[in-house]
Amino acid sequence: MDNVYNFCAGPAMVPADVLKKAQQELINWNGLGTSVMEVSHRGKEFIAVAKQSEQDLRDLLSIPDNYHVLFCHGGARAQFAAVPMNLLGVADSADYMDGGYWAHSAAQEAAKYCQPNVVDITCDRDGKKAILPAAEWPLSDNAAFVHFCPNETIDGLEIRDLPVTDKPIVADLSSTILSRPIDVSKYGVIYAGAQKNIGPAGLTIVIVRDDLLGKAQSILPSILDYSVQVDKESMFNTPPTFAWYLAGEVFKWLKELGGVKVMEQRNVAKANVLYDYIDQSDFYRNEVHADNRSLMNVPFQLKKPELDGLFLEQADAAGLKALKGHRAVGGMRASIYNAMPLEGVQALVDFMKKFEHENA
Ligand code: PMP
Repeated sequence: MDNVYNFCAGPAMVPADVLKKAQQELINWNGLGTSVMEVSHRGKEFIAVAKQSEQDLRDLLSIPDNYHVLFCHGGARAQFAAVPMNLLGVADSADYMDGGYWAHSAAQEAAKYCQPNVVDITCDRDGKKAILPAAEWPLSDNAAFVHFCPNETIDGLEIRDLPVTDKPIVADLSSTILSRPIDVSKYGVIYAGAQKNIGPAGLTIVIVRDDLLGKAQSILPSILDYSVQVDKESMFNTPPTFAWYLAGEVFKWLKELGGVKVMEQRNVAKANVLYDYIDQSDFYRNEVHADNRSLMNVPFQLKKPELDGLFLEQADAAGLKALKGHRAVGGMRASIYNAMPLEGVQALVDFMKKFEHENA
């Protein structure tokens, strides 16, 4: 099949140009006669990859100098534990803003280490699911930090506000990092699993403000300790080198295309094509209010759910892959991260039109 578009929420599409370059370099990387995954992480060739990828990420997100960039293992879920264990210090509470499945999961993990103040920030707006304005989020006085998840991958819901607080803000950016500009200086810690907008699973990016180091609980495993990882330049143990290399190639690709501002324009254009079509149709619907619709993950339901199976089967046969919604919510979901071209979204909309025409 010529044009296959992969709408998986993660592991997700990697830019085709990056995959082609990796394929060319696989057997003989840098003229070494071996692949990048077979060389020491401490050798000068890999150290050059590590340094360049960090610099490129710093450039892309304009990361200030008082922030450390860590390339870790363990996915975002490891950070669900690492965040409280690194940041609580002597406090025994933190604010967890609950806007959906992943923010809720982070709060559940935090409950092992403290008493999280879990606040449901969802609301109904004009019969659609939305998020309360940040100024209305009830924060507590004794919280060590405020955690939230700006893009809920499963619910398809995006929060563009920041918590109104002088406490460190901690954000799970797994499914939105690099999709648009952010002001890193407003955050204490940012973390993101790589497998959506960065590269292969196995790598997790952590961006941590310098003054937040040194508060870790002594029982914290060293591998999750931000101070240890800063000190060892993310090489306390063997890092996921291939994923790191590929992430570096994705960063180069993003810079060549013009960076996160250009990505935002592309992502808005892509999302509009899909939401506009869904909104004018009586056959499909999306439950999220326009104020909080995700640019990255677009869940949608058929008004005749008995046709879900047929829709997925025919979409798959047409090269439109992995459109099944998460098991927690059902229906469909199109994840349209940076690597998804506009043509992929257009192909999906063309298919949806045809399916509607045949089955309405
Ligand atoms: N947070 C968000 C927003 C996610 O989308 C996911 C994965 N889908 C996770 C956390 C969990 O990530 P991981 O599997 O890397 O632990």
